[in-house]
Amino acid sequence: MINLTLCLTHDCNLRCGYCYAGRKRPVSMSVETAFRSIDFGLEQARKEGKALGRQPEILIGFFGGEPLLEWDLLRKCRKYAEKEALRSGIRLKWTLTTNMTLLTEERVAWLMEKGFRLGLSLDGNAAMHGVWRKYPDGRNSHGDCAAALEWFKGREHRADLICVVNPLNVRHLADSVRWMGETCGLDIMLNPDFGARWTEEALETLSSAYEEIGREVLRSYQAGRPLTLNVIQSKIAAYVKGGYEACEMCTLGEREIAVAVSGNMYPCARLVGNDDNESLRMGNVWTGEDWKKKMTLSAARGNKNPKCFFCPLRPRCLQWCGCVNYVTSGRTDWVGEFTCFHERLSIRVADDVAETLWEERNPWFIREFYSGTLPAAGGEEEAGAVEEK
Ligand code: SF4
Ligand code: SF4
Repeated sequence: MINLTLCLTHDCNLRCGYCYAGRKRPVSMSVETAFRSIDFGLEQARKEGKALGRQPEILIGFFGGEPLLEWDLLRKCRKYAEKEALRSGIRLKWTLTTNMTLLTEERVAWLMEKGFRLGLSLDGNAAMHGVWRKYPDGRNSHGDCAAALEWFKGREHRADLICVVNPLNVRHLADSVRWMGETCGLDIMLNPDFGARWTEEALETLSSAYEEIGREVLRSYQAGRPLTLNVIQSKIAAYVKGGYEACEMCTLGEREIAVAVSGNMYPCARLVGNDDNESLRMGNVWTGEDWKKKMTLSAARGNKNPKCFFCPLRPRCLQWCGCVNYVTSGRTDWVGEFTCFHERLSIRVADDVAETLWEERNPWFIREFYSGTLPAAGGEEEAGAVEEK
């Protein structure tokens, strides 16, 4: 599947201290560049579908800056892509990453109706969120985000909370996970700030917080209301499947296309930044792909750090992520020290959780990770049935 991300604007109404989306300025993508990018993405999907002999698929994502500042453009893109994809039988999927402050009840309803999967940036409780996610005048944006969460309650939704964990906010992490679990029940994606400077003290705080989170996830399964946290469940799933599947790994320089406001193409949305890094630019939607650069980026995929070659955790480790590697080591094909620390930690915590739940034959755990392997379990009585087998 082709993964096309449109960075609709360089502007944002927040000024998060850790933002990697570059300098904020009121410059947005023109409707012509947006449509041209969509045409380009659809053409790539068509070619891929033909090569693989199956229906072409494309995931179109909106990113920024804050993409909701360009609400009309976003709607136009949706309409245009739908019309063009319908004509050529391409299956469309949609995502949007937003800071939530410009959501309204009507917008949420529209996005859900149109089948978007939303990434909602919320660092946690007010204390954690307020460390970095502020308006230009320094106000904490948490109140507006918490208000927007109300529109997801009781509604069929497809949304995840994206929580950036940084050395300066990590001390609030365990409380934040509890708060998010109690408040809205959305899946939580912890997104460590890989590019930050993690001191020994911050790493220790991170370890304690992950251990506490592990206990929280354990309790949630035992209470029959599993809390979904990517750093735990993804590692358990990777264990069950024998490692990450190819479709879960990034395809930097190949099927990942992020388009900046100018039409310049990059191998990942995380790498667009100020749109001034020549070494990562793969061409422009108006002038075409820079094949040499594309090949160079494709060749620089996969982790070449020899310390990982015989590591037993390799199949379950994010060492393959080119953009994470780039921000931690300056090379897309070289895993950094913090990634190694983080992956070892999350795998250890996930394994502790999984071992206990497996021993208890927890029915929600069994159903989530082993359905098809073991008899289905659906509640307290069925838990007993699983236990007996
Ligand atoms: S909301 Fe997103 S784009 Fe805006 S400043 Fe924060 S991290 Fe950057
Ligand atoms: S980064 Fe660390 S945990 Fe991951 S494969 Fe390499 S050595 Fe193993």
